[in-house]
Amino acid sequence: MSLDLVFRRARLAHKAHELVDIGFRAGLIADIAPHIQCDCPTENLDGKLVMGGFVDSHVHLDKSCISGRCNCVTGTLQEAIVETAKAKQNFTEEDIYSRGQKTLEKAIIQGTTAMRTHVELDPTIGLKGFNAIHQLKRDYAWAIDLQICVFPQEGLLNNPGTDELLWQACESGADVIGGCPYTDTDPKKQIARIFQIARHFDLDIDFHLDFNLDPTKSDLAEVCQQTIHHGYQGRVAIGHVSQLSALPPVELKTVAHRLAEAGIALTVLPSTDLFLMGREASHLVPRGVTLVHAMLRHGVNGSLATNNVLNPFTPFGDCSLIRMANLYANIAQIGDQRGLEDCFDLVSNRPATFMHLRDYGLVIGNPATLIVLDTEDKASTIAELGQPLLGYKNGRRSFTRPKAFIHRP
Ligand SMILES: [Zn+2]
Repeated sequence: MSLDLVFRRARLAHKAHELVDIGFRAGLIADIAPHIQCDCPTENLDGKLVMGGFVDSHVHLDKSCISGRCNCVTGTLQEAIVETAKAKQNFTEEDIYSRGQKTLEKAIIQGTTAMRTHVELDPTIGLKGFNAIHQLKRDYAWAIDLQICVFPQEGLLNNPGTDELLWQACESGADVIGGCPYTDTDPKKQIARIFQIARHFDLDIDFHLDFNLDPTKSDLAEVCQQTIHHGYQGRVAIGHVSQLSALPPVELKTVAHRLAEAGIALTVLPSTDLFLMGREASHLVPRGVTLVHAMLRHGVNGSLATNNVLNPFTPFGDCSLIRMANLYANIAQIGDQRGLEDCFDLVSNRPATFMHLRDYGLVIGNPATLIVLDTEDKASTIAELGQPLLGYKNGRRSFTRPKAFIHRP
């Protein structure tokens, strides 16, 4: 058959013990076989791992790269919200676009091929963030699929004018709607209103939820109950939920069953949670990171994601999901093969599933969107921080990241 390009001696994540050839034609994966006959250009991958790219299910492009504009002292969540709100007053559409662009390009070079970015709406920022990120989504479609999740970071019912903005953004092409129930005096009412808007526009939902270490005041049961009530199983994700890190295993198991029953996906944001939680402790500081991998065995889907980059919520970030999964493995004390493979899945096919990326992964007929890693299997990618070497989106090369070289004497 006529092909545009063939990768020779590639390794696929689900059967890393054998080598295959992968043929591309017209931007699609045309063939995967032990040996493909062709007279087209070929590239020998020499046994390197090929996969569909990393999937970052929770990022805030609009408020990335503002550490230098903020004055943080206590390092608490409250301070991060206040300092970011102050900086936000000076945001312009151009400013949001250029910071978002910087962060997005980092993610592309780290092998991320799909991302859900949260965009905040409130009367101060209006639709500036939404418009800037919406433009970014169009301008970078050649490298990455962006899902825009609009949400009320500074409250919905407590912040008049926000509801109208959410409605406008949903009419103008938002892909997902988010909530942040802990920012309103009546969290249940915010949850109900978000479901109402989501149903009107037929959008999936992604909540920021239970972002503290006190499980006595939780909104999780309400989200589960409303998800089932509205028939939204498989369409709701929740992020942070650091409260669950304060539960003993037996109670965590009960919550896992509840989430599995409601079909709610759990996103853990290790860098932010580790940075902001437990600030009241002077020593033996709690990690505040929910053990999502332990919930997978009970039928819960989930992900590990970047969240914030270089701002008061997280003054770090290279947008590497390999690094994030490695950080999580370290926090969660995971060192075995299966656990490390779970970490890999939590930044790739698992978020792809709940983000409904229907043509994700190395399957004949799918778009030729993939990355090559300088590693041979999932577990060693996480353990050794194996780096992405190159990527393709729809059959077109999107980035190259040359391997480091030792100059021997
Ligand atoms: Zn977030």
